[in-house]
Amino acid sequence: MKVAVFGAKSYDSKYLSKENEHFGHELVFIEAHLNALTAPLAQGFGAVCVFVNDDIDADCLKALSEVGVGTVALRCAGFNNVDLEAAASLGINVVRVPEYSPHGVAEHAVALLLSLNRQTYRAYNRVRESNFSLEGLLGFNVNTKTVGVIGTGKIGAAFCSIMKGFGCRVIAYDMYPNEACLKQGIEYVDLDTLLKQSDIISLHCPLTPETEHLIDDETISVMKKGVMLINTSRGGLIDTAAVIRQLKSGQIGYLGLDVYEEEGDIFFEDISDKVLEDDVFARLLTFPNVLVTGHQAFFTSDALESIAKTTLQNLSDIDRDNSCANSVSADLIKH
Ligand code: NAD
Repeated sequence: MKVAVFGAKSYDSKYLSKENEHFGHELVFIEAHLNALTAPLAQGFGAVCVFVNDDIDADCLKALSEVGVGTVALRCAGFNNVDLEAAASLGINVVRVPEYSPHGVAEHAVALLLSLNRQTYRAYNRVRESNFSLEGLLGFNVNTKTVGVIGTGKIGAAFCSIMKGFGCRVIAYDMYPNEACLKQGIEYVDLDTLLKQSDIISLHCPLTPETEHLIDDETISVMKKGVMLINTSRGGLIDTAAVIRQLKSGQIGYLGLDVYEEEGDIFFEDISDKVLEDDVFARLLTFPNVLVTGHQAFFTSDALESIAKTTLQNLSDIDRDNSCANSVSADLIKH
């Protein structure tokens, strides 16, 4: 299949090209993000391949349909950036990579948790300046703490099992309890109980209309004072303005983010020689107890190999008989 790979970085072309030796698709790498304005670049391609910050809304899909594109292949798991109903009405296939490296993402959530607790990012700078003072670096034992996990699918379950290994009490909230978690002794509780009892809360549910701003002033006010909040899922789960208010009051003690609700314009790009225009994001970066990474939880060599393989297989499946086990439809959101 002839595929326009949008938002392509060097690592995308490296891993997709290498894996494509086994598939033989015609891949063209385009640096621009896909949106309604750039969609005409896909003229003459059967498929587009996109990532988390491409904007595949109804206008974009209409423009893709007009230039003959029949498939949108997401090289990621989340699909909140695609208007699935518009895709269905235009007869455009949407396929994704439902699983590539749940352990890698869970491990990054744990990295944020541990770094925030011991402030290794501050210690690193201090030691390089011969400042060996421990003032301000006091942490706590993670062992025996209560960790609340919202969403126990593939990544949430991997995170639960790591935290079990730390000797934590792990409680979880999900409408569909995961058998593997139950077997490990993870306790399922309602959301309110999780918010009230957890010392550390990690978000692993998808972004849907129901989960948008799940973390806002109201839900934060129920949490323990000084709670640690980790989000490696999607930025829109958190109301950033509310989180800033609650960091200022001390209600939130630590915040670890790999995703941000307005990340689309900044993440994955080097804008170090430009002025940061997002004042909310700039304010977040001023807190010593906030650690932000730029959507890198997925970024392991294992994950990139797996993403490339599944994406190319999805395209081959669609090419062969116009169906694919990894198709996404609007019904999936309701699961
Ligand atoms: P998954 O589909 O396996 O699991 C999601 C779980 O969330 C399911 O068990 C589902 O029942 C549950 N859920 C849905 N709505 C919920 C709600 N309102 N409250 C509580 N639980 C709810 O997905 P996954 O592979 O574990 O991925 C989780 C999320 O992680 C993805 O949606 C994606 O947005 C994000 N992600 C981020 C990165 C990254 O690099 N930061 C990488 C991969 C995935």
